[in-house]
Amino acid sequence: MKYVLVTGGVVSGLGKGVTASSIGVVLKACGLRVTSIKIDPYLNTDAGTMSPFEHGEVFVLDDGGEADLDLGNYERFLDIKLTRDNNITTGKIYQFVINKERKGDYLGKTVQVVPHVTDAIQEWIERAAMIPVDGEEGPADVCVIELGGTIDLIFDAGDIESMPFIEALCQFSCRVGPGNFCLVHVSLVPVLNVVGEQKTKPTQHSVRGLRALGLAPNVLACRSEKPLDENVKGKLSQFCHVPVENIFTLYDVSNIWHVPLLLRDQKAHKAILTKLDLLSLGEPNLRKWKDRAELCDTLHDPVKIAIVGKYTGLSDSYLSVLKALLHASVACQRKLVVEWVPAADLEELRAIEAPNLHGKAWNMLKGADGILVPGGFGDRGVQGKIIAAKYARENNVPFLGICLGMQIAVIEYARSILKLQNANSTEFDPDTKNPCVIFMPEGSKTHMGGTMRLGSRRTFFHVLDCKSAKLYGNVRYIDERHRHRYEVNPGMILELENAGLTFVGKDETGRRMEILELLTHPYFVGVQFHPEYKSRPGKPSAPFLGLVAASCGQLGRLLQSLSHSDMRTHKDLSINGAPKLNPYQNGDNNKRAYGLYSNGDGVHA
Ligand code: GLN
Repeated sequence: MKYVLVTGGVVSGLGKGVTASSIGVVLKACGLRVTSIKIDPYLNTDAGTMSPFEHGEVFVLDDGGEADLDLGNYERFLDIKLTRDNNITTGKIYQFVINKERKGDYLGKTVQVVPHVTDAIQEWIERAAMIPVDGEEGPADVCVIELGGTIDLIFDAGDIESMPFIEALCQFSCRVGPGNFCLVHVSLVPVLNVVGEQKTKPTQHSVRGLRALGLAPNVLACRSEKPLDENVKGKLSQFCHVPVENIFTLYDVSNIWHVPLLLRDQKAHKAILTKLDLLSLGEPNLRKWKDRAELCDTLHDPVKIAIVGKYTGLSDSYLSVLKALLHASVACQRKLVVEWVPAADLEELRAIEAPNLHGKAWNMLKGADGILVPGGFGDRGVQGKIIAAKYARENNVPFLGICLGMQIAVIEYARSILKLQNANSTEFDPDTKNPCVIFMPEGSKTHMGGTMRLGSRRTFFHVLDCKSAKLYGNVRYIDERHRHRYEVNPGMILELENAGLTFVGKDETGRRMEILELLTHPYFVGVQFHPEYKSRPGKPSAPFLGLVAASCGQLGRLLQSLSHSDMRTHKDLSINGAPKLNPYQNGDNNKRAYGLYSNGDGVHA
């Protein structure tokens, strides 16, 4: 196993995660199998309990792990499926060490940060790096490790938490040997506007900080507005002791898919592969990346999607939803325009409290081609979300409700069509007379210890002649990721279905409702799961693709082309009885439809 450690300096928010993922993409394009580990030095065991407002979205993995959003970057860029062990936190490490201590594994020794915590970190890294994540058997060739936080000469309080990890990584670099370890330091080269000079001091300081802690960078990836001048590179090389050919600029680009191309064009792979004794590998093939990055720049016909949510001030709170919308828009060759509609502003009360905001929210909603209500917890803005679902239903506007978004669509239907005025979720009104969404924990079956239904679960299509089944490629079942406690009340299904709301997808017991549709509406879909987590560039998630295609008038054509291609795919479905899979597929049968878009043909194929 070879390791690429990515650290960051000067300021946070440099795009370290995107840089680390992009390094992975370039190495993968050279023919290597790549996995990744994200280290978050905070004390939380996982990101599940952190506010999306403060920390961005919680990314959910197949195994139910609740992780930092950077794991989403890795999954999307590298088209892999990570596990909860690929996200290391201080909380997890200390829990592990303390459990060992309680079991008596340390044989009466004094348990200390060095060596016990640092050993635990190294063992964890080695173990997690070996987990296959790309659908192939056996471990990957290279593991990209991203260390969260920043490193500088002067420390702030937050950096104290990073210390055990830095010490562990110093030891680790010796343990695996020089030909198996490459350290890439991502830093900032600011420009002072008055003179336009690229300043190297901040980078020099952070590299000194890194060296003082025992880590010497092999490669410098410098974030800057423009490419670095040669003399600036020379200066950095001299003061940071990194060869000029190992210094790269990650200058501002029009979209993040250009970052792997920037690295390739500056021969970053050469520098990294040389350090890892892998120079015999060929040049990276990034044709598809290049085509997609360039296509994205040229799109001009807009598709306007209103996201009616709670955290509309911070797009990182809905990062995967945004990415899934982007993947779908690129497949439809449209430029994605997102309108953030604060759900609460749609409510009637706001017309009096804040008429301007109320008017603005309604204008955005009415001007949108499609409406998306994402997942969420707590009752703030719920009424506004219900109003948005009602507006979409009554005005034939394409609608996708995700998790809470599906639940509010059910509440709205029960109130408007079944005339159950107080219909509600017991999450918001525990005593409601008409509980159409109720608490349905999986209980002890989840090993998370909590009551949340988390991770990958199977949905079976009960109705085949529906848009969702077609979008998923007419498969019998799909696996998608979940994160919720409440579900549509099984006791009210008959009533809702008789009134025209169809539950086209259910779990294996038939008691848990997974996908709803209004069959007569142009596109009104609700999903109890979070399809956004499995969307990939070039392989958009089916419900998102449906929403965007419907929003730009392409859904009919898309469904038609899907059923034709599906017939084509059916013909060569099996070789010797084994399902034939597209080379981009990891073995998910729901990806067959996605594969149609991974050949660069777009929806017009
Ligand atoms: N709050 C709802 C539940 O727990 C929805 C959760 C979500 O949207 N992720 O079921």
